[in-house]
Amino acid sequence: MSDYDTVSADVEHEEEIPADHPRYQDLLTRHRIETGIEKGITHLQGMHAEGRGSAFDYLLGEETIPSADTAERAAAAHLLLADQPVLSINGNVAALVPGEMVDLASAVGADLEVNLFNRTPERVEAIAEHLREHGADEVKGLTADARIPKLDHQRAKVDADGIYAADVVLVPLEDGDRAEALQEMDKTEIVIDLNPLSRSPQVAAVPIVDNIIRAVPNMTEHARDLADADEAELRSIVDEFDREQVLEDAEARIRNGL
Ligand code: ATP
Repeated sequence: MSDYDTVSADVEHEEEIPADHPRYQDLLTRHRIETGIEKGITHLQGMHAEGRGSAFDYLLGEETIPSADTAERAAAAHLLLADQPVLSINGNVAALVPGEMVDLASAVGADLEVNLFNRTPERVEAIAEHLREHGADEVKGLTADARIPKLDHQRAKVDADGIYAADVVLVPLEDGDRAEALQEMDKTEIVIDLNPLSRSPQVAAVPIVDNIIRAVPNMTEHARDLADADEAELRSIVDEFDREQVLEDAEARIRNGL
């Protein structure tokens, strides 16, 4: 057994995970989800979602493949063009990339909204507080005064002046039913999901097949790079984007290593 094999998943602080470990990102992700569960931010089911994602990331080579980078740039362009962009935050997103989501929101002028599959007032408030600790000024999702049509009561709850009214929504690690329901509301949907065959990326206008811990900082970098771009340039990035190609490329990488 090598030293690497002895790195336990239950390290107390993420700094204890050696950065040169060959599965560093995987250990870091798992550790953040565990911490999220301990803090009451993440539901236990989030660990199952994490396990599924981890398997796909392994097959992708734990890197941002070129087509994912293209999708991240197109997503940044969509968010910059939007009238009312909203970034949706669930328990896994809050545990994995709280500060990074705050940075992205500020780079594109978007709102942050807590939106949970297993919704309880305590968890919504814990996530909002966690985001505030990471620099968020305003967090939506606490009012929950509107409903997404065609979903059951708990899963349908959104803010009337948040996701309900948004024209562009980023929904990372989203459940397939809700992604489909949002898409039927004619929103431009950006999905981050490591499984290109999952329903959420399949219905998204911009499917990003990448680990959220790499995808979000890269979207912010693209947004900063495009900050001075005029509308015509942003529109051409959006128009040239090919969602089918992105899904095909990711599947080819996962199935054949291509
Ligand atoms: P469906 O969208 O068809 O309902 P599912 O039931 O597999 O699919 P969920 O369990 O609702 O999906 O959500 C988990 C999804 O999130 C999985 O597809 C998984 O690949 C993805 N995922 C998990 N962790 C990450 C991560 N760190 N970055 C990106 N995607 C991730």
